[in-house]
Amino acid sequence: MAKLINGKEIAAEIRREIKADTEKFKEENGYAPGLAVVIVGEDPASQVYVRNKHRACEEVGFYSKGFELAADTTEAELLALIDKLNHDESIHGILVQLPLPKHLDEEKILLAIDPKKDVDAFHPYNVGRIMIGNYDFLPCTPAGVMALLERSGVAIEGKECVVVGRSNIVGKPQALLLLEKNGTVTVCHSRTKNLAEVCRRADILVAAIGKPEFFDASYVKEGAVVIDVGMNRRPADGKLCGDVDFASVEPIASAITPVPGGVGPMTITMLLKNTFTAAKKQGAKV
Ligand code: NDP
Repeated sequence: MAKLINGKEIAAEIRREIKADTEKFKEENGYAPGLAVVIVGEDPASQVYVRNKHRACEEVGFYSKGFELAADTTEAELLALIDKLNHDESIHGILVQLPLPKHLDEEKILLAIDPKKDVDAFHPYNVGRIMIGNYDFLPCTPAGVMALLERSGVAIEGKECVVVGRSNIVGKPQALLLLEKNGTVTVCHSRTKNLAEVCRRADILVAAIGKPEFFDASYVKEGAVVIDVGMNRRPADGKLCGDVDFASVEPIASAITPVPGGVGPMTITMLLKNTFTAAKKQGAKV
């Protein structure tokens, strides 16, 4: 039976640490780290994420400000808001909730965020810094996976690590971070041949493809550590599930993350960590 990697507990532990650091930061500086969250339109899933982000900020003592813009907001209006936030000294991190409505050019918007305030780490400047291993911020989900591994005592050095998925926000940065910790990394995607065979080489398997319960025991080596990044609705009952078929894989893995309660709670926690780092680096006064 696998050890359960409890993301909820680990996230709570890290948030307690951030809260204590924030109290000290406020005493020393007289202001709180500040996060601006911008949402355009009324996508219900995005609205839930944004609410959770504000709640998390409140929990650790940050200042957070929400900007809810109408779905027909123009690019010029959104760029003007970002410019204002770039120059607002009470705001240390800016997050633009994706996806944006189709008429807005996501790349142009993300490029407009000052890299110093880019707490999602999506700006090409920050992506480049991650590539060379000299960074201030890491993208929240892969950073959350690394924190889960570290705090569960999973050694990465010399291990066969297989990442399935190569998106810019999860798969690619995840591969770089495992490589930085001296894993031997393979990245798989939709054109990978013999996927199950490649996955079975993994000591650490990271599943990030967005397909409900795709990975069953035939993809997993006995004793592997399995990290499930997927967040899907199970077609049969509409319940939240991962990319991994937990019931099939859990008996043969040595450790596994559940969904919900695994990687999910870590993502917002890493956003808090990036915002705290941004505030420390900027040293602005409210
Ligand atoms: P994307 O859709 O951007 O990328 C999916 C990747 O999976 C692509 O690289 C694609 O390959 C690959 N892929 C798709 N189907 C297969 C297949 N059958 N076999 C092998 N590879 C496949 O998704 P994201 O990276 O944004 O997200 C992945 C999952 O993680 C989703 O379930 C998402 O909801 C979840 N997620 C969870 C977060 C959390 O906080 N827990 C945060 C972010 C994402 P190709 O490139 O060839 O098309």
